[in-house]
Amino acid sequence: MSGEVFSKLITSVNPKIMNYSSRGGHKIDRIVIHHNATTNKNVAMNTWVKGGRANTSAHYEVTPTEIIGCISESDAAWHCGGTGGADKPKMSYPNQRSIGIENVNKTGAPKWEVDHKTIINTAKLVADICKRYGIPLDRQHVLGHKEVTATACPGGINVDEVVQLAKGYYYGGTHDEPGIPGKAGIPAAKPASTGWIKQNGTFTVTTPGGIKLRSGSASTKSPLIAVLPKGSVVKYNAYGYAGGYVWIRQPRNNGYGYLPTGNASGNKRTSYWGNFK
Ligand SMILES: [Zn+2]
Repeated sequence: MSGEVFSKLITSVNPKIMNYSSRGGHKIDRIVIHHNATTNKNVAMNTWVKGGRANTSAHYEVTPTEIIGCISESDAAWHCGGTGGADKPKMSYPNQRSIGIENVNKTGAPKWEVDHKTIINTAKLVADICKRYGIPLDRQHVLGHKEVTATACPGGINVDEVVQLAKGYYYGGTHDEPGIPGKAGIPAAKPASTGWIKQNGTFTVTTPGGIKLRSGSASTKSPLIAVLPKGSVVKYNAYGYAGGYVWIRQPRNNGYGYLPTGNASGNKRTSYWGNFK
């Protein structure tokens, strides 16, 4: 096929001819998120090959390390049209107007978990697609499969999280990205020399890309809770220095959230990513 349209983020193209049809002139204004319902990406993609019995396909297959182009964005993939009969899609022309992203599972039934690295790749892809087609990056336009037709798909994927993460990439990168030289990725179970310094206050995020809120400890290696967009207000009860950042500690229902609020050199703040009150 010539003239295939894929995101620049793809790591490869699957050369097999898969199920697709014309978009019939419909504009792309939705992204639909799926899980493979298998931990084997090749098993998943092979079911989309033309002539197979499944009558399905998707534009992209995403894994912890890959974004594989399968069906050109200029064509409709067969991913959210429903199975016919009583399973009537909740929007018109579901396949013709959407881009379908499939994600390989990390675990099988019943949880059907998806690796966080896969979710990150999908979030980057979602941000890229929204930018190129002018699709609003929100939950009305980025949907889980089950929000379109009757299905348990996308399994263990939290589409809210995908959209939150995608916003960070959409707005030109997010602070506290691993890979900032000499800053991120330095493990710090707790703030190094000072420990937590008690202080009650509120912090308002002003950086356009938002800031990543972590659980467990004040480290960019800690599990991500959310990307807090610009304008978010966080109540905190302590602050401290770790890994090249000034962190605040947010009391939550089940522990603490940890938010970097700017860069630090040792125990000296060198930048602000928001306002304190
Ligand atoms: Zn699905």
